[in-house]
Amino acid sequence: MIKRVIKVGLDFDGVVAYNPFRIIRPVVAFVKRKIFGVNKLEFWYPKARWQQIYWAILHESSIFPSKGVDLLKDLVDKGYIEAHLVTARYSFLDNHLYRWIDRYKLRKYFKTINLNKNDEQPHIFKERMIEKHKFDYFIEDNWDIVKYLHTRQETAGKKHTKIYWIYNILDHFVAYQHKFPYLKKAIEAIINQE
Ligand SMILES: [Mg+2]
Repeated sequence: MIKRVIKVGLDFDGVVAYNPFRIIRPVVAFVKRKIFGVNKLEFWYPKARWQQIYWAILHESSIFPSKGVDLLKDLVDKGYIEAHLVTARYSFLDNHLYRWIDRYKLRKYFKTINLNKNDEQPHIFKERMIEKHKFDYFIEDNWDIVKYLHTRQETAGKKHTKIYWIYNILDHFVAYQHKFPYLKKAIEAIINQE
């Protein structure tokens, strides 16, 4: 039985929006780590205009609302959940994001939409938003970011945000206490927790 409104922060790409091609991402990360020895939690930023256009096409093509968005809408309508969108997408993609959200008529379900205006590193930006809004839960699909945020929350010592992870088929073997195959499962777990 839910007694209070649950504040939930949701990442956009891979959590609210599902891209069938996201499965290649862990492969890229693996190659970077093993072949190039890149271990830093640092993200490539497309600087040139042509790179930004290419990046935008990659992001806008073939993304759909995730399985679980209908449940989210329902719980927001009933007043059980307060949903906040947090995306670390680079700012040149802001218009794409709003266009997508409006195409699926999702804007009204989010109490706030938090965009990475200053192009901060994604994990830093998300941590800042978690601190700002004091979410009960934050749902994220990037394992490196989940690890970072979870560790930071665990060591915070105060009332902290639970970090829920939407995993990929390719990293399903990674052990984590709050891992889910898609959004619907994560939301159901949140409701069962309360
Ligand atoms: Mg994501």
